[in-house]
Amino acid sequence: MAGRVWPAQCLIGGEWVGNADSPVFNPSTGAEIARVPNFGQKETEQAVAAARNAFPGWSRLLAKERAAILRRWHDLVIQHVDQLGVLLTTEQGKPLAEAKAEILYAASYIEFYAEECKRVHGETLPTHISDGRIIVLRQPVGVVAAITPWNFPAAMVTRKIAPALAVGCTVVLKPAPETPLTAFALAELAELAGVPAGVLNLVTGDAVAIGQVLCASHDVRTLTFTGSTAIGKLLMAQCAPTVKRLGLELGGNAPFIVFDDADLDAAVDGAILSKFRNAGQTCVCANRIFVQTSIYDEFVRKFAEKASGLMVGDGFSTAVAIGPLINDAAASKVEAHIADAIRKGGTVITGGRRHAIGGNFFCPTVVANATVQMLVAQEETFGPLAPIFRFEDENEVTALANATHSGLAAYFYARDLGRVWRVAEALEYGMVAINSGRLSTELAPFGGVKESGLGREGSRHGLDEYLDTKYLLMAGL
Ligand code: ADP
Repeated sequence: MAGRVWPAQCLIGGEWVGNADSPVFNPSTGAEIARVPNFGQKETEQAVAAARNAFPGWSRLLAKERAAILRRWHDLVIQHVDQLGVLLTTEQGKPLAEAKAEILYAASYIEFYAEECKRVHGETLPTHISDGRIIVLRQPVGVVAAITPWNFPAAMVTRKIAPALAVGCTVVLKPAPETPLTAFALAELAELAGVPAGVLNLVTGDAVAIGQVLCASHDVRTLTFTGSTAIGKLLMAQCAPTVKRLGLELGGNAPFIVFDDADLDAAVDGAILSKFRNAGQTCVCANRIFVQTSIYDEFVRKFAEKASGLMVGDGFSTAVAIGPLINDAAASKVEAHIADAIRKGGTVITGGRRHAIGGNFFCPTVVANATVQMLVAQEETFGPLAPIFRFEDENEVTALANATHSGLAAYFYARDLGRVWRVAEALEYGMVAINSGRLSTELAPFGGVKESGLGREGSRHGLDEYLDTKYLLMAGL
């Protein structure tokens, strides 16, 4: 199916609808690559109604029947991995190999939940009355609204939609305006796989208007959102009047700690992976790198050497490790963080500026002598800037790592078993990677504490947002 033309329209009640209104750009070249519908309140209400109407039929199917459809969806995604990878790189910019890896990662959620939905078990509990029995059912919540970001145009979609569909919920998805095309393609493959009309609906357009309808609707029972902390808080407030279930994956400010007993080369490799994946544009990217004093200089030297060797360029060029940032504002934020760090005593070891090829391309940047007064310590940079902080001991670095309102991912490298346990338990984060720079997998619960969000995605825990618990008392036996 080479050269397949993917849809650039919205999907409501099984119909592909909408005009070519809003442009989508390739962040690498700046070229317009498509135009998509600019929908608002009316169409979102239609999408919610379609999802509501489709819910009884879909939720009544056997888990095994839904599983078979999801399995076919997974297989179609795998079958189209090359074309989907090209589409993803075109609208998002990440290197093609990373884009294809994301498609496989996205597919893994569909596969996992196609299997896991067969194991949504209820319970019978010890009774409090001799002529009664207590039974606990797990039932799909109903209509789910999903709002997704641009940094993982495929994986953030399937991580939400696959578990929702698998347990019998129906969905209205609003993908990010920067990257709607991958979502359209995934929806078309879902349709081909046999997902019935109205079960999966997709709208693009006015984010504020769409968000207001989704939050205010009594039919929407769960809102699941991945994006900025500011918008997450806004949506949470907007959902209060209808007391909706909320899944929120918000910003991080990940610490990456290297202790003096660590395997230094492994720590350097892990930090490179964690910091520069997707050009630093992931909510689990290392944002603050803390290195113990005795190994600080050696770490900085080795890390900067590797960072400066990462090739920056168009995602379709082979050997490119870092694509463009999503837009000019993203590049300006990295510039601002660097300027602030320099003003406050930081030393630029490599990079420090936009790349010579222009546009939104940015050099991998390492800043030594970072301090907690700098913006880089307080805000998520979301770009290829690695500030390296010095620390003396375990208590000091744990306190520094926890000194943030975020609590998504943390990383540390150490070998001493006592230290590993102490630090792992002391870090106030939803996810802690020990001696690894990467932790995302469909098999584990992804999510944060504090202002990084609510709920978990992936693993069996990822079903919880989409299931209600119902207590049945069977009395008079
Ligand atoms: P970013 O700044 O990284 O784009 P956002 O949180 O603004 O992060 O965007 C994440 C998703 O939230 C996108 O799909 C975006 O369109 C959507 N979004 C932004 N503002 C609102 C809003 N007021 N209501 C609903 N969705 C919104």
